[in-house]
Amino acid sequence: MKPYLSVVIPVYNESGNIQKLCDRLLTTLDKLGKPYEIIFTNDGSKDNSEAELEAVYKQHPDKIRVVQFKRNFGQHMAIIAGFEITAGDVIVTLDADLQNPPEEIPNLLAKIEEGYDLVSGVRQKRQDNWFRTYVSKFVNHIRALITNIRMTDHGCMLRAYSRNVIDLINATNEASIYIPALAYTYATNPTEILVKHEARHEGKSKYRLYDLARLYFDIMTGYSTLPLQVFTMFGFAVSFLSILFVIYLFIRRLIIGPEAEGLFTLFAILFFLIGVLLMGLGIVGEYIGRIYKEVRRRPRFVIKKVLK
Ligand code: UDP
Ligand code: MG
Repeated sequence: MKPYLSVVIPVYNESGNIQKLCDRLLTTLDKLGKPYEIIFTNDGSKDNSEAELEAVYKQHPDKIRVVQFKRNFGQHMAIIAGFEITAGDVIVTLDADLQNPPEEIPNLLAKIEEGYDLVSGVRQKRQDNWFRTYVSKFVNHIRALITNIRMTDHGCMLRAYSRNVIDLINATNEASIYIPALAYTYATNPTEILVKHEARHEGKSKYRLYDLARLYFDIMTGYSTLPLQVFTMFGFAVSFLSILFVIYLFIRRLIIGPEAEGLFTLFAILFFLIGVLLMGLGIVGEYIGRIYKEVRRRPRFVIKKVLK
């Protein structure tokens, strides 16, 4: 039977969470009284997740499907691979670590039924460490400043999408994707609801600071070119001020004579400008790296096998 709902869940080293997640999902979804499917993508886990996924698949082969990646391709690629095989009218994404309570799904669906085509969860009382929570809040602010994405919490993966949004995402073949932002650009009628957030059940977060930085650059470069423009404008401003300064020094020298003081001030200014220059080069590099990835056109992920 064609499912009404497809739930897509990326899994990377989530041993100990899978059975529990499945039980809670099934309890919630069975109450809906509508056909559904749950699609897990095993993103190259190195722990026992593969066996645990096969076990839940064997329990409910009619409801569960599992995509096995050959190696780790990242959370967003894992979700894309799931999206590609969804059949539901409504698609829901959530994390495998039980930070997104499956019991919230009916609330998301209710909003879709009201006619919204993207329902984004906003995490209430985040249960992450303070560092992660504040870095995330800060990045949400920066993203709001430099992109056109109007979204309170871009990091929450508990979301519902209508079929048309998923079809558009599936038709997008970009190499660096950030799903919440992409979904927002395709949605015509998005809304948000507050959702609960729980502490990770087992294991620890897969995102170290470096991974987070890479992800944040995907958002900034993928949905805005403002960083490049700011850099250009800064360059213009500095050049203009430098001209004024040169003219001033020239006149000063003619009237008062040569000067030698202020050497360290000069260094301070110089170091600052070199810092800005390196940062700018890095920003340009972030765009070029993504263009390079794009033109190589390598497959975005490799599937080992699919249980369905
Ligand atoms: N994940 C994934 N591939 C990765 C990293 C994470 O599929 O390379 C999955 C992970 O199993 C979880 C979700 O993405 O279901 C969110 O990851 P995590 O809980 O580590 O992130 P956080 O909650 O700290 O943002
Ligand atoms: Mg998590």
